[in-house]
Amino acid sequence: MAKEYDPKNIEGKWPARHRYAQALAGGQKEVDEYNPQKIEKRWQDHWEKSGIYQAEDDSKKPKYYALVEFPYPSGDGLHVGHVRSYTAMDIVSRKRRMEGFNVLYPIGWDAFGLPTENYAIKTGRQPREITKENTDTFRQQLKSLGLSFDWSREINTTDPKYYKWTQWIFLKFLEKGLAYKAKIPINWCPKDKIGLANEEVVDGHCERCGTPVEQKEKEQWMLAITKYADRLYDDLDTVDYPNRVKIQQKNWIGRSEGVLIKFDDIEIFTTRPDTIFGATFVVIAGKEDKFTGRFVTNPATKEKIPVWEAEYVMSDYGTGAIMGVPADDERDMVFAKKYDLPIVGEYKKAGFEDFGRKVTKYKLRDWVFSRQRYWGEPIPVIHCGKCGVVPVPEKDLPVELPKVEKYEPGPDGESPLANIPEFVNTPCLRCGGPARRETDVMPNWAGSSWYFLRYCDHENEKEFASMQNLKYWMQVDWYNGGMEHTVLHLLYSRFWNKFLYDLKLVSTSEPYKKRTSHGLILAEGGEKMSKSKGNVVNPDTIVKQFGADTLRLYEMFMGPFEQAIAWSEDALVGPRRFLERVWKLSGKTKELFTPYAMICQDVFEKTVEKVSDDIEKMAFNTAISQLMICSNALAKEDFIPTNDFKRFLQLLAPFAPHITEELWQLMGGKDSIHNSKWPKANWVSNPMFIDISVQINGKYRGVIMVKNIATEEEVKNTALSLPEIQKWLNGKEPKKVIVVPRKIISIVT
Ligand SMILES: [Zn+2]
Ligand SMILES: [Zn+2]
Repeated sequence: MAKEYDPKNIEGKWPARHRYAQALAGGQKEVDEYNPQKIEKRWQDHWEKSGIYQAEDDSKKPKYYALVEFPYPSGDGLHVGHVRSYTAMDIVSRKRRMEGFNVLYPIGWDAFGLPTENYAIKTGRQPREITKENTDTFRQQLKSLGLSFDWSREINTTDPKYYKWTQWIFLKFLEKGLAYKAKIPINWCPKDKIGLANEEVVDGHCERCGTPVEQKEKEQWMLAITKYADRLYDDLDTVDYPNRVKIQQKNWIGRSEGVLIKFDDIEIFTTRPDTIFGATFVVIAGKEDKFTGRFVTNPATKEKIPVWEAEYVMSDYGTGAIMGVPADDERDMVFAKKYDLPIVGEYKKAGFEDFGRKVTKYKLRDWVFSRQRYWGEPIPVIHCGKCGVVPVPEKDLPVELPKVEKYEPGPDGESPLANIPEFVNTPCLRCGGPARRETDVMPNWAGSSWYFLRYCDHENEKEFASMQNLKYWMQVDWYNGGMEHTVLHLLYSRFWNKFLYDLKLVSTSEPYKKRTSHGLILAEGGEKMSKSKGNVVNPDTIVKQFGADTLRLYEMFMGPFEQAIAWSEDALVGPRRFLERVWKLSGKTKELFTPYAMICQDVFEKTVEKVSDDIEKMAFNTAISQLMICSNALAKEDFIPTNDFKRFLQLLAPFAPHITEELWQLMGGKDSIHNSKWPKANWVSNPMFIDISVQINGKYRGVIMVKNIATEEEVKNTALSLPEIQKWLNGKEPKKVIVVPRKIISIVT
């Protein structure tokens, strides 16, 4: 931290200035004690009332769209991990506003999903009631942190006004043939007679009753994300994501160029067709390793080779069959040795046009888009015996979730909605005959696949968002979120955005220009925080005890932003003391005449530069440490020019918005500090100002600061115009003034 800068190098200069400064400064002002409880709530209310964080849709200013993953409002309340991510983007947003941007920094609730439904089942309460309670808690918690969200655009995926559009987009997928039904195996608990999400299967057993989970074929709605596999893969080159995120997405899509080759009736897939002369067996995907008893002909060597089944071949990769080339593939070699299969070390390389045809294969599968659950968006179609699948027309959207009293699944593991005849039975919208409403709901990924679009135009009742607003706000300039979402959520939302782009309903092909991820916050001692271990830190407690500004600073200071880091209660004291020191420094401010406008200039300009750069690099911890160095330097001064202190507050404002606003106002700030202009460094390597020693009648009396390029005459005039020097002259003209350029001014009275 701050290795380039060593305050000791310039410290030697200060005492002289001090003595002189002291003569000028007079006494310090008395300041009250720093008390965040007194000021934070007051400023939060004031900011909300004055609407200073509200984004404007028709602004002439350049726009900036900063996004964080909207939280799932669980019953556990806000986690300190949320605070880390949200504070980081809050800092970026606040800096952008001060740089003159029209900033959109929105928030909402990703509120459908299993935990709430399960909690509802346990307590016999309605999920919408529980969700309301939880979002109220979350909202209050987020507000207590002083985050600069535009609360006027708050959205909730469980609000029918919102999910009307989630359903509408689904109907577009259906219309374009990208939503379809297919029989696929799902996790099935034979005792509860219910389909389970992957996260409800614990070591192959049902999370609720412990029964071993089976696979059961069921009809599911699917979304054809594979149609977009190439674009989802290739367009990663057009966005600014961390490399590891790009690699994860590419691996998930799993594109490989290869060749299909027929070994009699078995078609294999290989990315190394040139090795076919070395193929001594064929392996097809199976549950265990065994010889099938069959032989097929290797089309290159014309030899009969055995067909095996093996676990190591994936049924959903390629054709589910490969050729075994032990000399060229490690796993084939292990397999060949284990079962004593022939190994050919030397063989001729093939030109593959002779034996197969080129294909591109993907690991990516179409997205299973239905859940046999309650707390999700109803899939807006009806089934008619005569007409088949009939989409619910736009004017009848949303298909609202009815209230249910019981959450037992339907007789064949259907959604609880299947037990509500008033919901299920409906006349066909085409022929008027009896029909049944679809009872599956969407997965909890649905609402989050397009929420960033809705923020751009959250109240629009005619469209999910107008093209005009989308053109202004999109792309998201910077999106921060957890590493756990860098595959599915990012991929799904990129897919939806591209699909809507193809329909000319959104303005950019990629939704996010830049993506970053924060590291997890672990419990003290380095374990994962979990309710069962009782080691979860509640941000409310910290805010109450230390203040929101301290919590924010601490979470940004605790370590490099991308890295996982353990919580430490003891370490909270450091940021708190720093803020107390800043508070006290305000008592040393003084309006000063020009030559003194730049006390501790070196450290000051360095701080402006470093904090500005570090925020862009998400190096929040080093930015804060530079602010601490600067405050230490200021603390050594007997007084601080008001303008300099104000600039210091501006640099600190994105990190600690309350204390800086309070001090800014105490120092006569008219508008909010958060609307003020971000400071710029006055110089970088060449000081604009230099120190000149002042001697009066041969005695050293201190230093003055003058412009580096000041002429002798200017130095003389500056010195003689200072009232403090006039005092020494007693109203008389000096007898003699000698200026040694850039060093000394000597005055004889
Ligand atoms: Zn079960
Ligand atoms: Zn019909």
